[in-house]
Amino acid sequence: MTEISPREFDGKMVHDVRSFAAGHWIRTDDAARAIHSAVTGQIIARAGNSALDVAAMLDHARDVGGPNLRAMTFHQRAKLLKALASHLGEHKQPLYDASFATGATQKDHLIDIDGGIGTMFVFASKGRREMPDGHVYLDGEVEQLSRNGTFLGQHICTPRQGVAVHINAFNFPVWGMLEKLAPTLLAGVPAIVKPATSSCYVTELAVDIMLSSGLLPEGTLQLVSGGLGDMLDRLGTQDVVSFTGSADTAFKLRSNPNILRNSVSFIAEQDSLNASILGPDAAPGTPEFDLFVKEVMREMTTKAGQKCTAIRRIFAPQVHVDAVIEALRVSLSKTTIGDPKDPATRMGALVSHSQRADVLEKAAQIGQEAERVIGDPENFDLNGAGPDGAFLPPMLFHCANPDAAHTVHEVEAFGPVATIMPYSDLDHAIALTNRGQGSLVASVITNDGDVARRVALGAGAFHGRLYFNNATSMAESTGHGSPLPHMVHGGPGRAGGGEEMGGVRGVLHYMQRTAIQGSPDILTAIGDKWVPGAQEITHTDHPFTRSFHDLHIGETFHTPSRVITSDDVAHFAEFTGDKFYAHMDDAAAARNPFFPGRVAHGYLLLSFAAGLFVQPDEGPVLANTGLDNLRFMKPVVPGDALKVRLTVKHKTSRNADYGEVRWHVTLTNQDDDRVAEYELLTMNAYATA
Ligand code: NAP
Repeated sequence: MTEISPREFDGKMVHDVRSFAAGHWIRTDDAARAIHSAVTGQIIARAGNSALDVAAMLDHARDVGGPNLRAMTFHQRAKLLKALASHLGEHKQPLYDASFATGATQKDHLIDIDGGIGTMFVFASKGRREMPDGHVYLDGEVEQLSRNGTFLGQHICTPRQGVAVHINAFNFPVWGMLEKLAPTLLAGVPAIVKPATSSCYVTELAVDIMLSSGLLPEGTLQLVSGGLGDMLDRLGTQDVVSFTGSADTAFKLRSNPNILRNSVSFIAEQDSLNASILGPDAAPGTPEFDLFVKEVMREMTTKAGQKCTAIRRIFAPQVHVDAVIEALRVSLSKTTIGDPKDPATRMGALVSHSQRADVLEKAAQIGQEAERVIGDPENFDLNGAGPDGAFLPPMLFHCANPDAAHTVHEVEAFGPVATIMPYSDLDHAIALTNRGQGSLVASVITNDGDVARRVALGAGAFHGRLYFNNATSMAESTGHGSPLPHMVHGGPGRAGGGEEMGGVRGVLHYMQRTAIQGSPDILTAIGDKWVPGAQEITHTDHPFTRSFHDLHIGETFHTPSRVITSDDVAHFAEFTGDKFYAHMDDAAAARNPFFPGRVAHGYLLLSFAAGLFVQPDEGPVLANTGLDNLRFMKPVVPGDALKVRLTVKHKTSRNADYGEVRWHVTLTNQDDDRVAEYELLTMNAYATA
């Protein structure tokens, strides 16, 4: 990592949080802002440089970083992510050490730092498994646009040729960066990361660790610590802004005239009045009731409640409200508040005094409509922590009349604050949940599938994620508040209308989807995947004798034909035990609307097809790993003659020794009618033995 020396600020030597711009680390200048420790209140760092050359940063990303990334395939970029994640994992201790000053406990670090690294690993793995080892991502299947199949359609995605500007919230200085960076780099787009100032020293360290690894191609990652200057005014049509933060800031930034004029893609993840419903079936005494209390307690206290997904509104059947409050009272009383470095501490500090003041102000607004039943901000035990930290206790409010209330459904106190409210029946609970006007996540603790279905139909449109949990899933469930890289994160309306992650879906936000129309050969050339109707390449040697690298997309093998006899069908029925009447009884088969009479088994056809196209000698084909998209299109009756066309559709490297070959297989009869079609998967060695 690069060595830096502290700088003097207000008479103290403090950490100088740098930016990384156009290949150089830039130190702060007089415009820098002070950053205070959440725990001691002391100034520990400063960040900002008014003279940052943002135009040069954008040029560097677009002219150097973008081309460097676009020259790589999806698989090469996925390998880069894996290496970066491993490198961060080997160097995470300094990140833990630095993060305590943000008020976070070691358990919180696991969410932010290990969670961020884990997210990068998942994208690395999805990039290898679900994206091609090429430059074009095919979105969906080929569309038949003409009667004879000479003019077809296919949607493709290619990387945007601009830069992704990531503006992040303070609460997850590492995860908040990595969950956006991973899909961005995988897409082939360079990033400029701007963390929130109050915790940017942790992000700076993570960026330094990644850059020091030497893994990242030039220009692919830059960092702005402090203000963005006029960067948003300089964004163009190929750029993307991915914002996480408050609704007010999102509104301000997305209204930037330049962003509007250029239709700059603006992904917003903003605040959210997430809810959790105690299912009507989850009465006190059930495992679901205890689970509910545990989930709520965890959401109120993890990261001192500074989680965009934290439960803000708790809905319980009217008769169980008191029981929930009492259970939470017991549970929250065990939440030791104090120095996050102390292993006995369960909840650390809020990130800053201004954040603490903001939470208190919002809690006071909620207090206009609800009574505070747990937690007193004026009187709680700090367990030895100094008085100058930004500490607060968990605070639970009870709003007895949620229908008449407004603030509890509208005001987000971004700290350890939640409000419990009664509901009369499930429709009432759904209506109340939706009054958040769009949230990141709503959870339902229930063991009743009908309850779950009614919530999914009644509330799905208002929430980015619905989390159901009960006794069956609780041991392995991931928690109401945990966004997972496999699942989409984001929500409609109030939550920003944005969407992130969700596996490859998250990568596509940084790519352009384009509808391609043309002949089968044109589509094959663009997508690197053979499309039926495209030119067939013939080779004198059987394709099973040719190694992975020697095989060409479109290489085709035609088999001789084989007549299917009644004896074949009878033998197959006897041998396998599949004596379904359509294969055994001519009259019964003829009564079936699908068959003219007794027909051959579909699996018999597949077996004969293999017998026709397989080359039996030991060679580069290592294994048949499955088949996809099997369709039986026309019945085959005894006397029909079967032949097979086998075409190399697509190739994907898997490891150092072999790769997967996807073959397009078509079975036809003596009239050239297609009787079956599928894709066969084999693993093929790179070299012939
Ligand atoms: P914030 O005050 O809105 O700031 C968010 C980011 O915007 C920070 O990086 C901030 O930088 C930057 N910013 C503010 N004004 C800007 C401007 N004029 N130009 C460019 N950048 C600007 O939010 P926060 O206090 O950091 O985070 C708390 C909020 O984020 C909560 O409301 C929470 O719900 C939300 N959040 C949402 C998600 C989600 O995924 N939906 C996740 C986490 C947090 P500075 O710090 O330098 O001002």
